[in-house]
Amino acid sequence: MRIDNGVIICPLCNGEGNIEPILINKLKLKCYVCIECNSAWNKVEDISEKNFFELDSFMKEKGLRPIPAEVTILDYSEITKQLIELKLLPEESPPPT
Ligand SMILES: [Zn+2]
Repeated sequence: MRIDNGVIICPLCNGEGNIEPILINKLKLKCYVCIECNSAWNKVEDISEKNFFELDSFMKEKGLRPIPAEVTILDYSEITKQLIELKLLPEESPPPT
């Protein structure tokens, strides 16, 4: 996993996109998505080029429209906290601005 300044870089679009924590409102499902290429993961520790799913297709499968209104972008500290737990960031890391 590539982390730049506390931000996870998408492994699929080579630094084009950052991973953001989101909540799919109606499913109450938290996941991590690349805003650029729409790749998503269920867990921070799963983020790699091998085991992603495509957020739009996933939402369509669940009968949702793949539009921004169906998701809430969560605070980045959601990811920072987990990176600290996974020891991928030092303990005192502030969330990136
Ligand atoms: Zn990407």
